[in-house]
Amino acid sequence: MATKKPLKILFLAAEVIPFAKTGGLADVAGSLPKAIKALGHDIRVAMPRYGRIGREEFGLVEVVPPFPVPMDSETENARILQGTLGADVPVYMVDNAKYYDRDGIYMYPDDAERFVFFCRAAMEMLKTPELDWCPDIIHCNDWHTAIIPNWTKTIYADDPFFADVATVYTIHNLAYQGIFGYRVLEIAGIAEYGFLSHAEVADLAEVVDLMARGIYYSDIINTVSETYAQEILTPEFGERLDPILRDRRDRLFGILNGIDVETLNPATDEYIEQNFDVSSLDKKTANKLALQREGGLSENGNVPLIGMISRLTDQKGFDLIGEIIEPAMKNLDFQLVLLGTGEPQYHDFFSDLARRYADRMAVFLTFNTPLAQRIYAGSDIFLMPSRFEPCGLGQLVAMRYGSVPVVRATGGLADTVRDFDAVEGEGNGFSFQEYTGMALYAALVRALETYKHGDVWRQLVLRGMTADYSWTASARKYINLYHRALGMKEDRAGQAI
Ligand code: ADP
Repeated sequence: MATKKPLKILFLAAEVIPFAKTGGLADVAGSLPKAIKALGHDIRVAMPRYGRIGREEFGLVEVVPPFPVPMDSETENARILQGTLGADVPVYMVDNAKYYDRDGIYMYPDDAERFVFFCRAAMEMLKTPELDWCPDIIHCNDWHTAIIPNWTKTIYADDPFFADVATVYTIHNLAYQGIFGYRVLEIAGIAEYGFLSHAEVADLAEVVDLMARGIYYSDIINTVSETYAQEILTPEFGERLDPILRDRRDRLFGILNGIDVETLNPATDEYIEQNFDVSSLDKKTANKLALQREGGLSENGNVPLIGMISRLTDQKGFDLIGEIIEPAMKNLDFQLVLLGTGEPQYHDFFSDLARRYADRMAVFLTFNTPLAQRIYAGSDIFLMPSRFEPCGLGQLVAMRYGSVPVVRATGGLADTVRDFDAVEGEGNGFSFQEYTGMALYAALVRALETYKHGDVWRQLVLRGMTADYSWTASARKYINLYHRALGMKEDRAGQAI
């Protein structure tokens, strides 16, 4: 392929490591831009400046003084503080005390307004004399930034500044759509265009579904694995938007996430007890013993230790775990360390279990990144029996840290975990197809039995540790996607889909 000129990309996300994180979106937003930059492109990130992001801690500097951002019929001021991702990716943080000076990231009654403001401020920021930087691509992620493709086809459609800008919209999880009422259209300045309408998605005529708008209006759509890109075209996984996705399937692609292999490296990770790599695998045991101590479990290097690090929601398969955990604890020999936060029912459920099996099960109901890395390093098996999984990062990090994944074969889990084949001596984990407690139980038994065969297990661990999980290949695919978006840019403000 002929060499193309470097692209200018504005990448918007609601969470970006190391500044703010609740899940995988933050990992992607904090690592993909660095990989794209390394390929020679001018990529810049935008995110809200949440109250907890310390100005001193991250060396933020004001690069754009307060400027007016249209909201409904009024304006609200924003200013831009700049931080840096890695060595040289600028991060523009939209600063506004009213919207962001709070403890958390989401779950506020005015979330729609908060993210519309973030997006509008990011668009207006580009035109300020201080920045005056016009991207070729605006890359939006999840519902929080989905209004932008809607705007480039409506209120900004005739704005010469954005005339050559194409939009890319990445779905990290179709289950979170940002569904709000009519008022959002007024706040966003697009009330005159009204609701969307689609014969097969009737409620679009009554609610503002930001995810649906991102899908409908952006020039290119992608999701974070090839299998999930196919799955969401079906009613089972489509979260009722599958008819729109099918209409747009010629613009829908799947690109697998990578991980930041520099920070997530067992050979250099500062959070873990003992660094190790493929040539010093035996040192991994020190991490297991340390984790057992930390969790108050009986210290034993030989018992298989299962790790789980996850949001505690049904999506992640906790209903299946609930079905099998008692018989598994009774019949099988293993320890379990769980780190997660989420639905209160699961907090209660696991607290109770941890009390009853204190020397075999440790439960940490918090969000703690260093502890997560100690669990990846100290566990033998990583459990992720998701009902659906757009990509999943846990299984990738686990493999890099020598923990063998046991997963349900769905979405990105199907694309990254190859079921162990004892005859051929192939595979990098254990996977099961049917979403049932029995199938999960059987996969767990297979993993625990295989663990007993030290040499075979070692090969499984090594295959996981030596694979390439870096962003390099996927970052190139994003560049191709950006070029495709520029080629497919549509001029279209219509409402009927
Ligand atoms: P999702 O984005 O659906 O939550 P992913 O597997 O894509 O799932 O990404 C989850 C990321 O968040 C992983 O990096 C995982 O290690 C991390 N994580 C999840 N829960 C916690 C927690 N309680 N503490 C620390 N890290 C967590």
